[in-house]
Amino acid sequence: MIKKKYIKLFHVKPGKKIHLKDYDTGWAQTDEFKELGKEKVKERANAVLEQNVQDLAEVQQLLYADDRYSLLIVFQAMDAAGKDGTIKHVMSGVNPQGCQVFSFKKPSSEDLDHNFLWRYMKCLPERGRIGIFNRSYYEDVLVVKVHPELLQNLPDGKKGKSFWENRYEDINAFERHLERNGTVILKFFLNVSKKEQKKRFLERLERPEKNWKFSSADLAERGYWDDYQEAYEDTINATSTDWAPWYIIPADNKWITRALVADIITSTLNDLDLKFPELDDEQLKLLEQSKKALNEE
Ligand code: ATP
Ligand code: MG
Repeated sequence: MIKKKYIKLFHVKPGKKIHLKDYDTGWAQTDEFKELGKEKVKERANAVLEQNVQDLAEVQQLLYADDRYSLLIVFQAMDAAGKDGTIKHVMSGVNPQGCQVFSFKKPSSEDLDHNFLWRYMKCLPERGRIGIFNRSYYEDVLVVKVHPELLQNLPDGKKGKSFWENRYEDINAFERHLERNGTVILKFFLNVSKKEQKKRFLERLERPEKNWKFSSADLAERGYWDDYQEAYEDTINATSTDWAPWYIIPADNKWITRALVADIITSTLNDLDLKFPELDDEQLKLLEQSKKALNEE
């Protein structure tokens, strides 16, 4: 497990105004890490990931049996920050029956004809399950804020000065509603640098087996880098709450991203009061009778 004092570095305290510029995207997050050196930190991160993958498998079973909570995990990031790889590695030990991943792309015309939260509501995890949103309703205050022409057809009066503030408020209320109904929410912003994104795009272009991952649309979005950084900053500042906290995860090194995400998910589940359902006297008696019947067959 990663010490809580390190996790605190990435947790956005509700009410605190963060600046993304203050967040290092690399591996050298503390003096202690720097002293250890990159190879040692990597070795430890990989060990943490491995342990957490095992622990997560166990605690997920308990979450399922307990059947009172659900866990919603939101991933947001710039392209090539490693959302897909993080989901794949962190969830690799989890029973697929207890987990669902939804990747949200451009909304359909049916989606756009509804309120902006509609399409996400239909995908929320059931009690006992883990639901992963690979992109989410946050796109509606990120890509849509950067490209306002994507906005639904709304009456003029609804697009006033406080439009984005109102959306943040709606999101906070939505997440509060979920939390009040037993959903635990974790939100990860994978914080990749512009330099590392360039490196990963070039890799996609240069390596034939990675070509399929490249999209010229991603390159076009890179042109709006500063607008996105600002939109992320505003969003995180407005929507990191006690009931649905944001974590800003360094994403220039995949191993540190994965270790941190796995650790935060596992420790969040471990901190819940999960328990296997207890049988009452009547049910225990039934078990005894069944055992007896089988033995006497
Ligand atoms: P990958 O590239 O790894 O497959 P991705 O999440 O980038 O994953 P894409 O199909 O490349 O998937 O991109 C999805 C696109 O859909 C993104 O550009 C995203 O901004 C856009 N999108 C998602 N939600 C919305 C939304 N609510 N409104 C407008 N655009 C959206
Ligand atoms: Mg993409």
